[in-house]
Amino acid sequence: MIRKNFNNAKRIVIKVGTSTLTHENGQLNLYRIERIIREISDLHNRDIEVLLVTSGAIGVGSTRMGLKKIPRTIPEKQALAAIGQGALLHLYEKIFAEYGKTVAQVLLTREDMDERIRYLNATNALLAIINMNVIPIINENDTVAVDEIKFGDNDTLSAMVATIVNADLLMILSDVDGLYDSDPRVNKEAKLLNEVNEITVNMEESSKTRGTKFSSGGMLTKLKAANICMAAGVPMVIANSEIENVIFKIINGDSLGTVFVPKEEKMHARKKWIAFASVTHGKVIVDEGAEQALLKKGKSLLPSGIKEVEGDFERGMIVAVCSTKGYEIARGMVNYNAFQIKKIAGKKTSEIEKMLGEKDYDEVIHRNNLWIKN
Ligand code: GLU
Repeated sequence: MIRKNFNNAKRIVIKVGTSTLTHENGQLNLYRIERIIREISDLHNRDIEVLLVTSGAIGVGSTRMGLKKIPRTIPEKQALAAIGQGALLHLYEKIFAEYGKTVAQVLLTREDMDERIRYLNATNALLAIINMNVIPIINENDTVAVDEIKFGDNDTLSAMVATIVNADLLMILSDVDGLYDSDPRVNKEAKLLNEVNEITVNMEESSKTRGTKFSSGGMLTKLKAANICMAAGVPMVIANSEIENVIFKIINGDSLGTVFVPKEEKMHARKKWIAFASVTHGKVIVDEGAEQALLKKGKSLLPSGIKEVEGDFERGMIVAVCSTKGYEIARGMVNYNAFQIKKIAGKKTSEIEKMLGEKDYDEVIHRNNLWIKN
């Protein structure tokens, strides 16, 4: 049972969603917020490092402005995030201060993860805050993040944070009890799953429900987060924030919510970035021989196995490695740019120099820079 280890967790990421922070009418649920902050502060007093990922900026901003629901246009949402984020942090700052805790606001976008240097900078900043005995309060920078530079939901953001700081546990506190074997709103017989070792396509399909009117996630984004955590080696729990002392109970190993059990080994730091943080800038399509060599034999990707190249990417960027059937089998950092790979595709390693006039690497993607999807 993995739950009994939670008692030894030294670094925890806790994510609270808009539905936890607010009542159904959008007003702040002060009682619940205070309870959660008290629990977090007490964990901190026990020398457990806590990082809080909070939603609610857009929701709180909307309520402040007297709106009945979140507006549709992106600029309006950006503006409301700016209004709400300030209000939200003010509240956290005030209540945490009552327990003698200092907090730090960290606002991230997808772009901060995308480039390796920015990713390392973000990681270092978070670790420095924790080392100062301060509690980072993290949200997406919704005011500047639009579309392609957006995580889009804080479940994914919290999984990324848990991964980059190497957390021992991620808790997602929500208005649901956990993951059910079918949609409990439709099927009264639905059973809560206590432990999940593998996320199936079926689970994803039956989780395509919407969140509440003030939040953006649903079960699907939680499964996406679980996928990231399981692959990166971080246990994750989804539980209902309505439960009294929910955080303490999870730490105690009580059997509530759903726990997602990670694979045994923790992933190497660079591979984590390749797998979850970076975005892909193109594709290389490989033949069956190369596919087998990558998946079964632990080999690097050589030019000879490449059939096609798509996209216009530079050396050092991350590309998707796809089978001839079109699905992605791996991701990796390329040693050559798209133009060069097109030239050497299908050729032997010994021919690289002749084709390109130089040869810095034998491999198009070295094994150490390759992440194999399951
Ligand atoms: N970042 C958004 C906010 O603070 C919330 C995203 C989410 O609920 O997942 O309003």
